[in-house]
Amino acid sequence: MKALDELTFDNRFARLGDAFSTHVLPEPLDEPRLVVASDAAMALLDLDPTVADTPVFAELFGGHKLWAEAEPRAMVYSGHQFGGYTPQLGDGRGLLLGEVYNQAGEHWDLHLKGAGMTPYSRMGDGRAVLRSSIREFLASEALHALGIPSSRALCVIGSSTPVWREKQERGAMVLRLAPSHIRFGHFEYFYYTKKPEQQAELAEHVLSLHYPECKEQPEPYLAMFREIVERNAEMIAKWQAYGFCHGVMNTDNMSILGITFDFGPFAFLDDFDAHFICNHSDHEGRYSFSNQVPIGQWNLSALAQALTPFISVEALKEALGLYLPFYQAHYLDLMRRRLGLTTAEDDDQKLVERLLKLMQNSGVDYTLFFRRLGDESAALAVARLRDDFVDMAGFDAWAEQYKERVARDGNCSEEQRRERMHAVNPLYILRNYLAQNAITAAESGDYSEVRRLHEVLSKPFEEQAGMEQYAQRPPDWGKHLEISCSS
Ligand code: AMP
Ligand code: MG
Repeated sequence: MKALDELTFDNRFARLGDAFSTHVLPEPLDEPRLVVASDAAMALLDLDPTVADTPVFAELFGGHKLWAEAEPRAMVYSGHQFGGYTPQLGDGRGLLLGEVYNQAGEHWDLHLKGAGMTPYSRMGDGRAVLRSSIREFLASEALHALGIPSSRALCVIGSSTPVWREKQERGAMVLRLAPSHIRFGHFEYFYYTKKPEQQAELAEHVLSLHYPECKEQPEPYLAMFREIVERNAEMIAKWQAYGFCHGVMNTDNMSILGITFDFGPFAFLDDFDAHFICNHSDHEGRYSFSNQVPIGQWNLSALAQALTPFISVEALKEALGLYLPFYQAHYLDLMRRRLGLTTAEDDDQKLVERLLKLMQNSGVDYTLFFRRLGDESAALAVARLRDDFVDMAGFDAWAEQYKERVARDGNCSEEQRRERMHAVNPLYILRNYLAQNAITAAESGDYSEVRRLHEVLSKPFEEQAGMEQYAQRPPDWGKHLEISCSS
């Protein structure tokens, strides 16, 4: 276990130089204080979790202090936002403080979000508010606990610094961890600004540091792109299987590593709704829940365009063609497991689709349905769940097929079935109303609810004593919360 001053830095991205990022110092927050920290994320840096409670922790991650070896940089990138190209974006309010190695040899970027203005701030103030920082923290750690690849969050630091959004709020910083902060938009920036040398440097950097196994392949860049396609397909398959809606799938928010990244007004589905739009400024539903699948491919084609200097168009197209089959295979595999099935049959896809349609028409809670389906034998579970459906006859027909399918899958005891299904069907997810309760308390200075919610969500598959209230459908006020897009 390390103390805070024992971190080992190796700032490989900073060494790429000024064409890639600009040196900027964090602008400190007033009266920084710890809101919440993740022990699991601390462990990634080999940090002793008790250091989170020391004053120097809040000073470091509230922008007051820096390690001598840190090299804070604002990265430049661009990207397609809602389908249109924005030629220059970049870290407008976040800084890559440096890259840290842990004892296992893993490498983690420390990125401080809300750290003040940079050359890329455009009209923004460089700040992040407490509410959005808490949401990013909770989502990062909750996604990870569900087995969905995501950037991680070390902590949220709150403050008394006033920040103006729709009303006056307080500034906060979230310390984000990821093996890299390089986005699709980094490649697009150097492609569209016609800087082939830097683009080649960036491609070599990503290949060597993040896809070293592809270097052994006959066409290393093509192998890397294929891997990026597969990782994105797998990540989005998991979003769809667990009901996660990202909300702002612009190419500047897509990680080159295929991890969930740059959270906006995200949401987990309460009732199943394929057409759900969590971002209220997304009037056309470009990033609706079901559109996430084709948008994943659209984003990968935007990246492919930026990779045309390195890979032939035919090869890129062929690799893009792998996206849907990869997606479908991962999605179906996970949905079969959510249904308690261990074997594959051709009609399983239809079984899933018919169930989702019934759930959609009756507004059935997506998370609790699957959890309860595993509570007892298939026959008893469907008999109990049918009451949730308006079209009971339709559900009964589905249930008959499901019971037959379960019987063909093979015998297992009720305990085995429960254990198997509960291991993939969470009881607790980050429902918007739960996040909202935690935020409301935190805004009045009480951080206990954020901490408790974080704790519950770190073991989503395990029933936790005394935590029943976190496994409930939303109350009426919490059903269709309008989450502010400002952050
Ligand atoms: P986002 O929607 O958070 O992914 O941000 C899109 C772009 O706007 C990125 O370049 C951000 O750095 C920038 N940005 C967002 N909010 C602010 C802010 N308050 N101040 C400066 N830049 C911001
Ligand atoms: Mg972004």
